[in-house]
Amino acid sequence: MIDKNCIFCKIISGEIPSQKVYEDEKMLVFKDIEPKAKVHLLAIAKDHFKLLSDMDESRAELVKYMLLKIPAIAKENGCEKGYRLVINQGEDAGQTVFHLHIHILGGEILPW
Ligand code: 5GP
Ligand code: ZN
Repeated sequence: MIDKNCIFCKIISGEIPSQKVYEDEKMLVFKDIEPKAKVHLLAIAKDHFKLLSDMDESRAELVKYMLLKIPAIAKENGCEKGYRLVINQGEDAGQTVFHLHIHILGGEILPW
């Protein structure tokens, strides 16, 4: 499913340009436009759902698929010495884009 008003769906379709570092039939990883660390990537599934709390079995399979791919992608993109994964859920966490995404932060020692 895609949402024609969603900026990350527009990134998937190419309507909004992005610096892609990995893409396959299920997921896309691209550079965050406002990096909060030396390396700041966003991993998204090519299936629009808004929130971690919208999880179901098939979406959990997609997140599992991404988690299996992320270690190699992180390593190839400057996170050899470690990285942090973040999923912001909802307003209090500061979620601003409502297409589930996993932040990959690294490339330096991260402040907590
Ligand atoms: P959230 O706060 O929802 O967890 O994270 C959304 C992230 O998406 C932010 O870190 C923000 O910088 C990034 N972002 C928002 N719009 C765009 C865009 O058009 N392109 C890219 N590459 N990143 C974006
Ligand atoms: Zn979307």
